[in-house]
Amino acid sequence: MIADKMKPLLKNNSAIRTMFEEGKKMAAVYGAENVFDFSLGNPNVPAPAGVNQAIIDVVREEDSCFIHGYMSNAGYEDVREAIADSLNQRFGTKFRLENIIMTVGAASGLNVILKTILNPGDQVVTFAPYFVEYGAYVRNYDGELLVTEPDTETFQPNLEAFQEQLGPKVKAVLINSPNNPTGVVYSEETIQKISQLLQEKSREYGHPILLISDEPYRELAYDGVFVPYVTKYYDNTVVCYSYSKSLSLPGERIGYLVIPDEVEDSEEVIAAAVIANRVIGCVNAPSLMQRVIKRCLNEKVNLEAYDRNRNLLYSSLKEYGFSCIKPEGAFYLFVKTPVEEGKFCQICKDHQVLVVPGSSFACPGFVRIAYCVSYDQIQRSLPAFKKIAAACGLLGGEA
Ligand code: PLP
Repeated sequence: MIADKMKPLLKNNSAIRTMFEEGKKMAAVYGAENVFDFSLGNPNVPAPAGVNQAIIDVVREEDSCFIHGYMSNAGYEDVREAIADSLNQRFGTKFRLENIIMTVGAASGLNVILKTILNPGDQVVTFAPYFVEYGAYVRNYDGELLVTEPDTETFQPNLEAFQEQLGPKVKAVLINSPNNPTGVVYSEETIQKISQLLQEKSREYGHPILLISDEPYRELAYDGVFVPYVTKYYDNTVVCYSYSKSLSLPGERIGYLVIPDEVEDSEEVIAAAVIANRVIGCVNAPSLMQRVIKRCLNEKVNLEAYDRNRNLLYSSLKEYGFSCIKPEGAFYLFVKTPVEEGKFCQICKDHQVLVVPGSSFACPGFVRIAYCVSYDQIQRSLPAFKKIAAACGLLGGEA
């Protein structure tokens, strides 16, 4: 019965489900408190109190038919205007409400823009390691995802390999910074170089290459690191933003796309994206959450909680001999496996530690550890990580 396109998705999905089921089984055997699940990117820092208050205030103060009703498929005008103003203030941009389309999180924002631009056979380039859903999103619209090999020393995009991939069938380049799974923030120099290459190649092929900046982790950046606002470097840029992580609201499904006037044929692209939002079945972003977001543009999650986790886990893993870049953003550590990836994941499981293999992000030889968990879980897991290190021959133990 099911479509051929769904079959590989079903197969991959079962790998994630297996991990989930395994976690449950382990919890039954060892006790939930002795299983250290670092597999999911679900924020454990609660939404700011102001968000819950805004939900109450919206329901109390605004008209019920209005707050639960349909609106323009692009979203409420006043909400989009408030977002445009806020971005202009923060980044010195010149967006108008027309440049903002409210979406059902970053996932739907990506689907909207890919549906808007892709013809069958068009290529989209992204950099390994990358968020595993990108492949499915591109294939939804019969596009082809090309993956640029990583520079595993820095995890900044490998621009030499990238340049080789920019052929005439490339319609878009998809970047994600701060990055899932590495936590790396793309430097200004990297963004400038990508922009320059895309300008050159657009000119050479006689059509624009769209740069799609997937930014659900924009606000999760540590030590004051600079996260360049990409529309300022390259005209044909679309930003895909989400409140899932920045306000800890992943289940509420709210975000937006920015399609600046500088994008070629921007009016047509915006009009098509609004229709795409409707016909992929979203119709519009959740109405109540749009009203809430307007009141919460200055709210922030407690970044210090993630930062504390980051510092403890990073310094401990380094002390045990693991090799890993200190993440500058998001809430993931991407750790080099001291032994073969599959063997390492098994050793982790043997110590009741659940991590995601790097091959799930097209980067074997690493694992992703999501530290959006309680500080207590990290503290309690450290002896297990120490034993894992010893079992892998780090700390003078036996492999
Ligand atoms: N892009 C990246 C890189 C992500 O890590 C995620 C979620 O984890 C998404 C997009 C989707 O986020 P959303 O919940 O906003 O759809």
